[in-house]
Amino acid sequence: MTANEILKKYFGYDNFRAGQAEIINHILNKEDCLGIMPTGAGKSICYQIPAMIFDGITVVISPLISLMKDQVDSLNQVGIPATYINSSLTESDYLQTIQNIYHGMYKIICVAPERFFSDTFISMLNFLDISMIAIDEAHCVSQWGHDFRPSYCEISKVISSLSKRPVVVSFTATATQVVKDDIIKLLNLQNPFVLTTGFDRENLYFSVQTPESKKDFLLNFLEDHKNISGIIYCSTRKTVDEVYERLCNYGYKVSRYHAGMSEKSRSTSQDDFVYDRTEIMVATNAFGMGIDKSNVRYVIHYNMPSDLESYYQEAGRAGRDGDKAECVLLFSRADVVTNKFLIEHSSEGSHTNEYQKLNEIVDYCNTSKCLRSYILEYFGEVPNFDNCNFCSNCNSQIEITDITVDAKKILSCIKRMNERFGAGLVADVLKGSKSAKVKSFGFDSLSTYGIMSEYSRDTIRDLISFLVAEGYIKSIGDKYPILALDVKAVDVLFSDTQVVIKKKIERILKPEKNRKNDFESLPFDNDLFEILRDVRSDVAEENNVPPFIIFADVSLKQMSTYYPTDVDSMLKISGVGSFKLEKYGDIFIETIRDYVKVHDIRKADVLEKPKTKNNAPAKADTKLVSYELFTKDGKSIKEIAEIRDLTERTIEQHLLDCYENGIDINLAKEVNTNFEDEIYNAINRCNSGKLREIKDMLPDEVSYFDIKLPQASHSPWAVDSCQDSTKALLPLM
Ligand code: ADP
Repeated sequence: MTANEILKKYFGYDNFRAGQAEIINHILNKEDCLGIMPTGAGKSICYQIPAMIFDGITVVISPLISLMKDQVDSLNQVGIPATYINSSLTESDYLQTIQNIYHGMYKIICVAPERFFSDTFISMLNFLDISMIAIDEAHCVSQWGHDFRPSYCEISKVISSLSKRPVVVSFTATATQVVKDDIIKLLNLQNPFVLTTGFDRENLYFSVQTPESKKDFLLNFLEDHKNISGIIYCSTRKTVDEVYERLCNYGYKVSRYHAGMSEKSRSTSQDDFVYDRTEIMVATNAFGMGIDKSNVRYVIHYNMPSDLESYYQEAGRAGRDGDKAECVLLFSRADVVTNKFLIEHSSEGSHTNEYQKLNEIVDYCNTSKCLRSYILEYFGEVPNFDNCNFCSNCNSQIEITDITVDAKKILSCIKRMNERFGAGLVADVLKGSKSAKVKSFGFDSLSTYGIMSEYSRDTIRDLISFLVAEGYIKSIGDKYPILALDVKAVDVLFSDTQVVIKKKIERILKPEKNRKNDFESLPFDNDLFEILRDVRSDVAEENNVPPFIIFADVSLKQMSTYYPTDVDSMLKISGVGSFKLEKYGDIFIETIRDYVKVHDIRKADVLEKPKTKNNAPAKADTKLVSYELFTKDGKSIKEIAEIRDLTERTIEQHLLDCYENGIDINLAKEVNTNFEDEIYNAINRCNSGKLREIKDMLPDEVSYFDIKLPQASHSPWAVDSCQDSTKALLPLM
C-alpha cells in the first residue's frame, strides 16, 4: 500500500498536511530525519505511516505515559496493531506484552526511555526485525529544551549497540538552533534530513483582552461557548479554586487541577475532562503536558503567563484537531506584579533572563500589531503577511488617539530625571505627587512636575508601558527597571513625529472559521452534532477510550453538514477510515438516517456537492433564525435586532456569515447604494484594508455594514487585496 492509501484507509484523511509527505518520503528512503513541527501539526502520522510500510517493527520512544496510552489507543482504534511498555503495566501485563511482541503481533511498540535501555529490551531489539526507531518529543535530549530528560541521552548508545542499525527519526515542536543541534548530536542522527514547518497555527484565533472585570468577561465568554471543551489557566492555586467555585455555582460542568490537590483527585479531574464528562478545566500550568485531547476549543489565560514560550505551548493545546479554536489572554497590570513576585521568590540568582521574558510577554499584551505576526517573529520566523485578519488586533475596530503631546511630556520628564528612575517615580513626577521621595530628589521643581496632573497615576503608567512596548522608551534592568529614552524618542522630541495609540474598541469579526480551510468551517447542524456527540460518548465509554479517539469533533461536524447515510458517503468524511467505519460506522449511519427521516432532510441536496458554496444547511443555528426573519418575513436588520433582543451588529454578522457560506440571500436592500462608487474607491485606495481607515475616507452616512459586505463577499480571513474584494459586490447590486 502507498502512503496515500494508508492515510485514507487507516486515518480517513484525503490529503497530507504541510511537511508530512516530504518527511515520509525521506523516511521511506531509509534516511534519518528530524521533524520540527508545531503542536497539532500531525507529527505522529509522519512515522506511523512508514511504520506500516516497513517490513519490520517500529519502536517509538515517548516521554509521557499518558501520551503513550492515547497514542496506542488511537492506533488500535484505526486498526494498526500497537502496544506500549512502561511502568503503568502490571507484571503479568508486561510479560504478556513481551510474549505478544515476540509473536509478532504489533507493528508499533511505544516505550518510555527508561525501559528502552533495560537489558531485556535490548536483547529483544536484537532478536526482532526493527525497521525504525522514532523519538517523540526529541527536545527532551537537550538540557536547553524545557523538559530535559537525562534518560534520553542514553538512547544513542543503545542504538549504536544494536547488531543492525534501524532508521532513526525524531520529532519535536521546539525550534531553537541549540536544541536542534543537540538533538542531531546527542541522538547521533546520521546525515539527517531536517524539516522545519512554519510555527503558525492557522486555526487558532489569538486574542488579548484587557477587561475591566475578568470575572464578567469569563462569564460572558462561557455563555457564548457552551457545551464545548476549554481550558482556563490561572497563575496560582488560589485563583484556580476561586474560578472553579464560581463556575460551579453558575452551573458549569468544571474540573480543576493544581499541584495542591492529591494525586488521585488530580487524575480523576483530568479523566473527567478528557472523557468529556466535564466541559471546562480550570488549572495552573501543572496541567496539560501529556494531554492530547484534540477537541479543546478554547484556552483562556485568566492571568498573563510568565513568558511567550509557555504561552504558545499552553495556548497551543487548543484546536489540535485542526478545527478553529480560540486562545484568549486576559491582561491586567496586577498580573505583571504577580509575575515579578513569582520571579523574585522562585530561586536565588539574578533572574535577568526571566525579567526579559516577562517584558516580552507584556509587550505582546500591549502591542497593537497583528498578534500572530508578533508571535511568529518572536520565534524567529518572517511571516508572509502584515495582518493575519484572524487575531483580536486585526479584527478590532481601531480607534486612533493622538498622544504626541503626552508622549513628549513623558519623554522630556524622563530626560530631565536623567534617565535614572523607574516608571513609578516618573509617573509620580508627571502627576505632581507630593511624596517625600519626589521632594527629596528635588523633582518638584522640574518643569515637567505635575504637567499630567489631570490623569490618574495608572493612566500615566499605562501610557509609559505603551511607549516602552512601541520602542520610544527603554526599560533597563531587572527587578527595578529604570526608564531611558529609546531611539524613536528623538523623532518625537525634535521632529514632531506623531505618536498614536490604536485602541481596540470592539471586535467586529468573530472567529467563526479557519483562515484557509473553508471545508471544515461550513455551517453544521448543531442539533445533529449534539446527538452524534452523545453517540460518541456512549461508544467511547463502551471501548474505554476518550471520545476524541473515536472521532474528532471535525469528523462529527462534517457528518452534521453532509448527513452521510450510507457507507460510501461516510467514507468521504475526514477522519473516517475503513477500519473505524467497520467498527462504528453502523451506529453513526443509523443515527443520521433516523435524523434525516424525522427532519425530512433531502440527502441529495447536501451530499452531492460537499465542496461547493451552494449547500445551505437544512437546519442550523442562530444565524439561520436571523436569516429566516430577514428573507422570509422581510424584516429589516433593525427589526430583527429588536425581535431577537440582539444588537444590530450581531444580526449584520449573522447575515454576512450566511452570505459567506453560500446561502442565497439578497443583502442589497440593506446596503446604502448611493455611495457605491465611493466605497469601491475607498477600499481600493486603502492599503491596510482596515475598516476604520476605509470608513474615515467616506461620508458619515456610510455604515460599517456597507463597507463590510464587499469585504465579506471575499474571504475576510485571507490576506486579501482590496482590489478583488470590490468585484464581489457587483452581483448583489
Ligand atoms: P502533533 O504530534 O504534531 O502535536 P498529532 O500527530 O497529535 O500532532 O496530530 C494532531 C491531529 O491532527 C490528530 O487528530 C491527527 O489525527 C490530525 N491529523 C494529522 N495529520 C492529518 C492530516 N493529514 N489530515 C487531517 N488531520 C490530520
